[in-house]
Amino acid sequence: MPKCLYIETVGCQMNLLDSEMVVAALRQHGYTVTDNVEQADTILFNTCSVRQHAEDKIYSALGRLRRLKQQHPEKVIGVLGCMAQKDQALIFERAPFVDLVVGPGQLHRIAELLESVAAGAPRPRMAVSLDRRDGPLAEIRRSHESFDPLRDPTMRPTPFQAFLRIQIGCDKFCSYCVVPMTRGPEQGRPPEQILEEARLLADQGCLEITLLGQTVNSYKYRSGEQMTRLADLLERLHEIDGIRRLKFVTNFPKDMSRELLEAVRSLPKCSPYLHVPLQSGSNAVLHRMKRGHTVEEYRDMMAQIREMIPGAAVSSDFIVGFCGETDRDFDQTMAIVQECRFKNSFIFKYSERPGTKAAERLVDDVPYETKQARNNRLLAIQNAISEEDNRAFIGRIVEVLVEGPSKVTMKRADTGSEVQLMGRTHCDRIVVFQGSPQLAGQILPVRVRDVTAHTLLGER
Ligand code: SAM
Ligand code: SF4
Repeated sequence: MPKCLYIETVGCQMNLLDSEMVVAALRQHGYTVTDNVEQADTILFNTCSVRQHAEDKIYSALGRLRRLKQQHPEKVIGVLGCMAQKDQALIFERAPFVDLVVGPGQLHRIAELLESVAAGAPRPRMAVSLDRRDGPLAEIRRSHESFDPLRDPTMRPTPFQAFLRIQIGCDKFCSYCVVPMTRGPEQGRPPEQILEEARLLADQGCLEITLLGQTVNSYKYRSGEQMTRLADLLERLHEIDGIRRLKFVTNFPKDMSRELLEAVRSLPKCSPYLHVPLQSGSNAVLHRMKRGHTVEEYRDMMAQIREMIPGAAVSSDFIVGFCGETDRDFDQTMAIVQECRFKNSFIFKYSERPGTKAAERLVDDVPYETKQARNNRLLAIQNAISEEDNRAFIGRIVEVLVEGPSKVTMKRADTGSEVQLMGRTHCDRIVVFQGSPQLAGQILPVRVRDVTAHTLLGER
């Protein structure tokens, strides 16, 4: 009997990639994939625990399955990813009908774990990595290693774009962040494995590869005397035929090196796009966040980017309402956003995470309404800047990698010889224009005729 899998993924690109690998592994074991949860006999949630809200959503989604599980006890329900690693047995307490909990470092075992549950192994089953204080470093590292070269083209953002993990874990320990606990110690993946996977992706028709790491520009891999860094990796990936664009996220400000910027400048396949979260415009807040950089250092890094790669798009993340953030601190964040002119910023309201230094030592003292108001104000100013800077594109011709029908086309279920298509420029700006759906997967010149804060409106 073919087994039928439903998988729901929340969170970052790392999670999307993990889900792709889980699906690839399970297809090899005879699973088919459905988007109808009622039809599935295996239901998996790949979860995120960066903010409370993401966890709440998963617990309510699980709650909605309670009845289904009562009616069909043979169905297997599994919780994967960061929340599985963070909450572990607590998940069984809050949702006793869950059969399986698997942390991100144990996902390579998913097929075997599901098989054992199906074969009648005692439920629930749990497979998680070691805690960061649970033994010798080498053992902890191994327990988080989940490199798996299996890929599944159907699970990608589009057939022409793929994520490629070059690093797992994080050693930065920003005081608000749960990732160093859920994803374990930072480990660079061997360059040969990365190159081999990139060649496989190119053979499968990928034009664009986005390299993933929590602090991707800190990537390093030592083999004997030889140290490989991200700039070296980009040079080698650049030689692979078929690949047309290379991106990498997320960058850590302190580790942005001249060599890396030099590589981005000199390698035409490297997108002139850098996501480098600043988090706050106040040195006092950055210090409490344990970010390891000041506003002045970030400003120097920006100046270097602007000097070496003129026209590069830089984007950022911000947390508003972090412990002790005053109106003055927030005004400084508003000011730096105006000064840096980011292409876009992801803005988050601070959410206290158990187990982090901030939760242990600082008070989450900014009221929710203040966080919300600051979020709105920062977003408004960022949107105004994005729109202003996008206006410079009006009348210009941009090279667009066409991803396929736009959201509007999909929503309206438009068919026909010409629909609204969506793609991205080399500097990661979204472009929509009318065209044949068959243009998907091509890199085309498009003239920009108008803009919004988030989109260039083009024509051919
Ligand atoms: N490693 C990346 C970095 O350093 O930017 C991304 C990590 S995290 C998944 C993505 C973003 O979530 C962070 O840049 C931060 O802005 C936000 N974030 C992390 N922890 C948070 C928390 N406790 N509350 C609110 N936002 C948070
Ligand atoms: Fe979290 Fe900081 Fe690591 Fe990013 S660099 S994953 S924010 S601890």
